[in-house]
Amino acid sequence: MKISDFWRLLLYVALGATLGALGGQALLGVVLSLLAYIWHLHRSLIGLLNHVNGASSDQSPKESGVFEEINYSISQLFNRHKSRRQRLTAVLRQFEQATAAWPDAIVILNQTDDIEWANPAARHLLDVRWPEDKKQRITNIIRIPALREFISSTGNTEEQTVDIISPLQPDVHLSALTVPYSKTHKIFTARDVTEIYRAIKVRSDFVANVSHELKTPLTVFRGYLEALTIQSDICPPTWQPALKQMTEHSLEMSNLVDTLLNLSHLEESQIPADSEPIDIKLLLEEVVKATSQIYKEKNHALTIHIDSQKKLTGSRVELYSAVSNLTFNAAHYTPKDGAISIRWYQQDAYLVLEVKDNGIGIAEEHLSRITERFYRVDNSRTRTEQGSKNGLGLAIVKHVVRRHSALLNITSELGRGSCFSIKFKQ
Ligand code: ADP
Repeated sequence: MKISDFWRLLLYVALGATLGALGGQALLGVVLSLLAYIWHLHRSLIGLLNHVNGASSDQSPKESGVFEEINYSISQLFNRHKSRRQRLTAVLRQFEQATAAWPDAIVILNQTDDIEWANPAARHLLDVRWPEDKKQRITNIIRIPALREFISSTGNTEEQTVDIISPLQPDVHLSALTVPYSKTHKIFTARDVTEIYRAIKVRSDFVANVSHELKTPLTVFRGYLEALTIQSDICPPTWQPALKQMTEHSLEMSNLVDTLLNLSHLEESQIPADSEPIDIKLLLEEVVKATSQIYKEKNHALTIHIDSQKKLTGSRVELYSAVSNLTFNAAHYTPKDGAISIRWYQQDAYLVLEVKDNGIGIAEEHLSRITERFYRVDNSRTRTEQGSKNGLGLAIVKHVVRRHSALLNITSELGRGSCFSIKFKQ
């Protein structure tokens, strides 16, 4: 009890006792004065309660004693709370302004992929409207199968992004990305990559056109070379070594042109040219047969494990090309007496085709780039019995994998070997 409260109580009691004594009822006067004091306390408590519920420092009731102090503390608390709220509101407003100006679509999703928040760009890029679409599942709004799989597999796959077409603007290409930021939430973003897409298209159209234009003159050129080589009467023997070299180079160039045309064709669409059930065991046998000469020459220990009898649905021609590129690379980049293993097995919901070698391996800094067209770790041109190494093999593998909605995983260690695996969804 504060001292002022003590004096007030004493005043009440003294006043009650005096007035009671005047009427000859001193005790009654004291009891009544105590009742009056309790009534005063009750009023003060109600005032305090109203102050707290009013949640405002302005409504502070005029009190004295301990109630004055409690009111003062509550007012201080309110003031601190108010300024913290103002600071938070300012930060939130700034965040809203920044995300509103941000050109990429940003959507926050909860653990069931329901929309918790979206910025204005999400409206015109993805047709996700905030706040109208609050708590809607994102895959019910953007009905793109590739995106559904991508979002549901966040964190379980090596794929970081997926390319989709904007649901509102068919000529706008988007690169989507999801980033989990807590156990339950993730950020989904989509960036307009139409310009990059156009540049890639211009480049691949150019390569396809040039390759196409080169094909006919090369065929004519090779025809004449062949004729000159056979008809020794029109070409003196001293020219034969030069003719042989020209024939080899023109063949190499024809192969390059064919590979480039094949690559352009693979880049054109995201689905395989045809689709049929494929017996992987037979396909692997064929591929190995075509590469057997190099295995023999280098005394490679080759093992093939077929651990799943499941067939794969896809384009036979495309898959043959991808697998033969991998097996040929394994043979080429593995020194004499090395070991190569090829496996076909099931892993959870995937069927996996794996080509592993204990060859020269690839340094980490090259791993992210080796599937780019023309990218080679060793830039010197290498010619083999099967044609020249031109850095297009893994680019073909990448596109075949993409067209079969599969995933390509590459692990390698310099000097210890490499492992290329293709994971097909069952
Ligand atoms: P290339 O025609 O040069 O083999 P690829 O596109 O098939 O072109 O491969 C790109 C590069 O990746 C190669 O130049 C090579 O450096 C590296 N590479 C591919 N496969 C292997 C492998 N099994 N072992 C080591 N390096 C490899």
